[in-house]
Amino acid sequence: MNAAYRGRFAPTPSGPLHFGSIVAAVGSYLEARTHGGEWHLRIDDLDRPRVVPGAVDSILRCLEQLGFEWDGPVIYQSQRTPAYHAALHQLRQRGLVYPCACSRKDIAEHAVMGVEGPVYPGTCRDGMLPGREARAVRLRTTGARAEFEDGVLGLQARDIEHEAGDFVLYRADGVFAFHLASAVDDGELGMTDIVRGADLLESSARQIYVLGLLGLPVPRYAHLPIAVNASGEKLSKQTHAEPIDPCQPARVLVPALRFLGQAPPQELSGVNIRVLWDWAATNWRLARVPKTSSSLSE
Ligand SMILES: [Zn+2]
Repeated sequence: MNAAYRGRFAPTPSGPLHFGSIVAAVGSYLEARTHGGEWHLRIDDLDRPRVVPGAVDSILRCLEQLGFEWDGPVIYQSQRTPAYHAALHQLRQRGLVYPCACSRKDIAEHAVMGVEGPVYPGTCRDGMLPGREARAVRLRTTGARAEFEDGVLGLQARDIEHEAGDFVLYRADGVFAFHLASAVDDGELGMTDIVRGADLLESSARQIYVLGLLGLPVPRYAHLPIAVNASGEKLSKQTHAEPIDPCQPARVLVPALRFLGQAPPQELSGVNIRVLWDWAATNWRLARVPKTSSSLSE
């Protein structure tokens, strides 16, 4: 694997694709294609209770019908757990992780708020209280920082220790956390460019830190605006975003291109999918992608 550009789209199979996921797919796909690179598809199916039966098939069928063509076999995170175990083992050997017995309630009582919820107060850093059982494995973030040049948002700098705190890499119920799994996959599978929604901007900082600790190559990042509903909530399965109609590609792809600032001409809505993708590949410019999230009602 030595492509100069290797990107990926990594949906969670907790339901059918919605407009927000299509925006991320379109952005990452066009960046890969206009760089002559590879575009891989990864299914983030580690959190088994969240995986909805039939969702993987629905996602694959939808992407096919929208004319996306991915390289290589589909990567399933559920088949990559030996790699995550090895990464966690390596961090444990170096004393960089520790077991934590705290419940959400324990943490809420002692924590200050960070960029995304409470910052872990460090209760179990020097060992759990006697008689308590580990609920999670956390990463030490003492002095942790991440700095990166985002392809859309420009220079980003994060003080992970104070903004996020020691974060969870593994849960006692046997699930590897997104930050560990995603970092290991991107690093080990040679992804050079991560293009995804800005809702994952803080995650990227943590993943860059994990990649550095594991000695894996750090990809370039570009974070796309996220689609929100009229009340300003991110479109997601949780906010009951309407699943898209995969049988009508132009009705999904043209609005996604418009949302990404690419100004597709109105007549693209009536053309066949090949012509539409040709137009998109010829005219795609990451520099036109807006920095801020917006509502679809525009
Ligand atoms: Zn703890």
